[in-house]
Amino acid sequence: MMNTAYIALGSNIKPRDHYLNQAIKNLETDDVKLVNKSSVYETDPVGYTEQDNFLNMVLEIETNLDPINLLLYCQSVELQLGRKRKLRWGPRTIDLDILLYNQENIKTEQLTVPHPRMNERAFVLIPLNELNPLINIPLINKSVSSILDGVSPEEKKGVIKWMPSNGEGE
Ligand code: ATP
Ligand code: MG
Ligand code: MG
Repeated sequence: MMNTAYIALGSNIKPRDHYLNQAIKNLETDDVKLVNKSSVYETDPVGYTEQDNFLNMVLEIETNLDPINLLLYCQSVELQLGRKRKLRWGPRTIDLDILLYNQENIKTEQLTVPHPRMNERAFVLIPLNELNPLINIPLINKSVSSILDGVSPEEKKGVIKWMPSNGEGE
């Protein structure tokens, strides 16, 4: 496997942890190997805030797929898990976003890497920082940990480590 990528996962339709686990299972193939996964975090919705809380996490993978084929593969896993595209930033069973692909800068109509909104999102930066605080974010050329230092405590408070509580049906 020649390439290292980081993928952000998010779900806010129950059972959320089932969708995360199923997405990880479906992602793993001959072409995508799971290297590491962050803790799961429960996070307040950002943008469109009148919706349920999310579970978020980040995966480090190794892959033979080029960036576009990795995107198409992620979208096929979203569809397998019943993702419906209605409202932008609205409720979803699973969202799979490519954060980083090696140290590449990609800007096409279909795909932008690094993910254009990752630097403002505590729900992405906190789990990514857990996996690799020193990794460089291309374009702005800063480490994840230094970007996270600039995120307000207020926003960080909205991202809390999630523990599966037995008996709640999740
Ligand atoms: P956001 O991108 O702000 O997190 P979202 O994940 O809800 O929003 P989607 O509906 O999942 O948005 O995707 C919209 C489009 O974004 C996709 O059709 C895809 O072509 C494009 N896209 C661009 N860059 C990326 C990326 N790095 N990872 C995933 N999708 C991307
Ligand atoms: Mg997204
Ligand atoms: Mg997405």
